[in-house]
Amino acid sequence: MTQSTHDDPAAAPFDPVASLAATKHTFGEHGGVNMSIEASTTFTVLTAATMPEIFAGRRSPDDGGCFLYARHFNPTVYTLGRELAALEGAEAGYCCASGMAAVSSALLQLVDSGDHIVASGAIYGGTHALLHDMWPKKTGVTTTFVSIDDLAAVEAAFTPRTKVLYTEALSNPTLVVADLEALADIAHRHGASLVVDNTFTPVLISPLLHGADVVVHSLTKFINGASDLVAGAVVGSNDFIAQLMDLHTGALMLFGPTMDPKAAFEVSMRVPHLPLRMREHSRRAQIFAERLAELGAPIRYPGLPSHPQHALMKRMLNPGYGFGGMLSLDLEDRERAYRFMDILQNEHRFGFMAVSLGYSESLMSCSASSTSSELGDDALRAAGVSPGLVRISVGYTGAVEDRWRQLESALRTVGALG
Ligand SMILES: *Cc1c(COP(=O)(O)O)cnc(C)c1O
Repeated sequence: MTQSTHDDPAAAPFDPVASLAATKHTFGEHGGVNMSIEASTTFTVLTAATMPEIFAGRRSPDDGGCFLYARHFNPTVYTLGRELAALEGAEAGYCCASGMAAVSSALLQLVDSGDHIVASGAIYGGTHALLHDMWPKKTGVTTTFVSIDDLAAVEAAFTPRTKVLYTEALSNPTLVVADLEALADIAHRHGASLVVDNTFTPVLISPLLHGADVVVHSLTKFINGASDLVAGAVVGSNDFIAQLMDLHTGALMLFGPTMDPKAAFEVSMRVPHLPLRMREHSRRAQIFAERLAELGAPIRYPGLPSHPQHALMKRMLNPGYGFGGMLSLDLEDRERAYRFMDILQNEHRFGFMAVSLGYSESLMSCSASSTSSELGDDALRAAGVSPGLVRISVGYTGAVEDRWRQLESALRTVGALG
């Protein structure tokens, strides 16, 4: 299905930039260098007999069929889906209105009422709420949460009804790296699918090449990179994307979290410079992390040899893009974390106190009282999220040395440098 470096260690490493360049370039209607925004909700067929063929699922846009209606496939959204599939080394991909739409649709497509999911306990708060609070009651689908780095615990959580193993490639906000090959082996041995949220590590890690079956993204973060729109994507096999769009049973088709073609166009304009941005996010995060570690600061970053899964991540990385733009500082108590962020934003203009990530400016949040607050105290403790954990999405604006002085000064002021 997908290209795999997993099975053949001698194969050239996967390069998302080369893969992206090899996808068919879509010209605009008048030969424009950019694709056109196809703002139609409905599409003509050339002969009346074509329409029932499309409805019966026998003619998709790629095999001589036509487009039908924009909640099904829209040409502009379709093109962005193809670009993201190329980036991930996947057969197919399609986009939707948000990252949560991608997560919920992909998962729901793989489970029936009464089925079971094994999920990492350290995941995005919204995904945790979906699986922990909403679905057991609404769908009868239950989830067991485990430490994703404890492979024995992962395996022990499987039941005969387990259909999905779910994890983030790099966890939010604890930055635990998932051993995708080992997890894929466990899932497949039990007849389940491995679904990976790759929002924190686009370009850096290509989960499908390490055995994952489906990858979901919040495009809202690094991939769009401008913090100006909400969007999501699912990539995987042709068959899985077709299932999501099935007229009778497709989660994307029937729940209808449709992406606006204008949003698809905006995201598509930013995909070509995603690898450049990722490299610079990583470069700066690596500099800060190394200097912070040297000063004895409570820093967690997968690019540091002291990180428990440093070697694992290095093995999985596509070479040349670094270890990503996310780092966390454990300032232990909340008041100290708040003071640290207040100083950085209001005195130094280092970045913004805001949730989300992957923006040009640095974004800082205290996870336990914001994006992970859905987990509740016990789950936060189990996931290793202390009340003073500050997550920083390292931006690329400003001179590196100025930014470093600001960061160091704020840490000294709150007494986090000994
Ligand atoms: C933000 C985020 C989501 C949800 O994405 P939305 O676009 O906000 O719906 C899912 N997973 C991760 C890891 C995220 O950071």
